[in-house]
Amino acid sequence: MHGRDGASVPEPEGRDGAPRQFDVAIVGGGLVGASLALALEGSALRVLLIEGVEPGSREQPSFDERTTALGNASRRIFEALGVWEDLAREAAPVRTIHVSEAGRFGSARLRATEQGVEAFGYVIPNRLIGAALWGALRRASGVTLRMPARVGAVQIAADGAALTVLNAHGGEETVSARLLVAADGANSIVRAAAGIEAQVEDYAQVAITAAVMTDRPQDGTAYERFTPSGPVAVLPLHGGGYGAVWACEPARAAELLDLSDAAYLSALQERFGWRAGHFLRIGRRASYPLRLSRAIETVGLRTVLVGNAAQGLHPIAGQGFNLGLRDAALLAERIAAHSGDPGAPELLDAYRKARAADRGGVVRFTDSLVKLFASQLPGASLLRNLGLLVFDLSPPAKRALARVSLGFGGPTPRLARGLPVA
Ligand SMILES: Cc1cc2nc3c(=O)[nH]c(=O)nc-3n(C[C@H](O)[C@H](O)[C@H](O)COP(=O)(O)OP(=O)(O)OC[C@H]3O[C@@H](n4cnc5c(N)ncnc54)[C@H](O)[C@@H]3O)c2cc1C
Repeated sequence: MHGRDGASVPEPEGRDGAPRQFDVAIVGGGLVGASLALALEGSALRVLLIEGVEPGSREQPSFDERTTALGNASRRIFEALGVWEDLAREAAPVRTIHVSEAGRFGSARLRATEQGVEAFGYVIPNRLIGAALWGALRRASGVTLRMPARVGAVQIAADGAALTVLNAHGGEETVSARLLVAADGANSIVRAAAGIEAQVEDYAQVAITAAVMTDRPQDGTAYERFTPSGPVAVLPLHGGGYGAVWACEPARAAELLDLSDAAYLSALQERFGWRAGHFLRIGRRASYPLRLSRAIETVGLRTVLVGNAAQGLHPIAGQGFNLGLRDAALLAERIAAHSGDPGAPELLDAYRKARAADRGGVVRFTDSLVKLFASQLPGASLLRNLGLLVFDLSPPAKRALARVSLGFGGPTPRLARGLPVA
């Protein structure tokens, strides 16, 4: 177990050997779970956060080598949580978005200034987000941390949930909570324990990520290039260079992962083109199989699902974490505003209804984008070309896309408006 300073400390036990009791137990301290814990810090509630893998370690699955594009609503949430200053040090603003399709004439360019915003969003290394969130959690006093520790068995009853928590040294303890939050990712064991099924659709694509340097300094342009086998996104990075995310068929991805750095760079150059310059150097490559996983319900008995445990999306539109962060922000607000039981069915039901429009909208938007650009059906290509052209000419369409980062409906969380949760 770790104390707030990371040192090993004895953990307090529940009275008479009874499970230690919490109001809210969050399983998973990745991007979304750690954000939720920080949003609840300062509330009068007893909050427990359990994370299996040390942030900063090479094995950490959420705070890994990837970069994340944060929209403006997410920036405001992080400002309200007090971590934006840390993130801003390595945030690359996206001032222009360039969308094109391989072998077609249509392309569209959106400029942030045309929409009256400084930037569409900011590209930030996941490791930095992990360091900022966990640094703030360690300094705070309102959240009990168990890390590295994994949740094993989960039992859910009408009055609360009981969890078996296993620490890295083989120790085991039982804790109980009135509300159990599943922030344990797409293969959530909490979701399974709650008996909530997930519908999974395999996109038959794998994303390969890597940082690349070109012979030209980046100018704040994010490129999205659609190809028949999957999209290639090239996002500006702080300090120059780009984060490249290349989605393609699994067999092709296996070949690409086997290539030398130089051979991979020329394959990427051929697929993406020269609009960002000549690709010269590349960092470590990592790969992610892509699927849409959607829990059929986002709440259950004493349980709520957030982030990837609720919905795992294709990264084509960079919306997964932005959506999950709004889950966390609204959940924290509803819990803080409810003076009674944080696991009460009426609270969970109100949360579910409030999040439905945003969640449904982002899932549909992302899924349609993947399918429209993958479609080989006659007419689809014409539609895409017309779409991009009309898009380039049409200010309302551009404004609509620029608003994607604000969410697709339902109440805007207080944190996203720069207000505290309560
Ligand atoms: C290639 C790629 C690029 C992306 N780019 C973007 C982007 O630009 N913008 C964007 O908004 N989104 C992006 N996403 C999506 C984003 O990464 C996810 O939405 C985000 O990771 C969800 O965070 P999460 O905390 O819900 O889940 P996860 O990141 O899966 O984290 C789950 C956490 O739970 C822990 N855990 C799991 N089981 C247990 C257990 N039993 N006990 C204790 N702890 C446990 C894990 O160790 C982990 O830390 C991208 C995704 C991919 C694959």
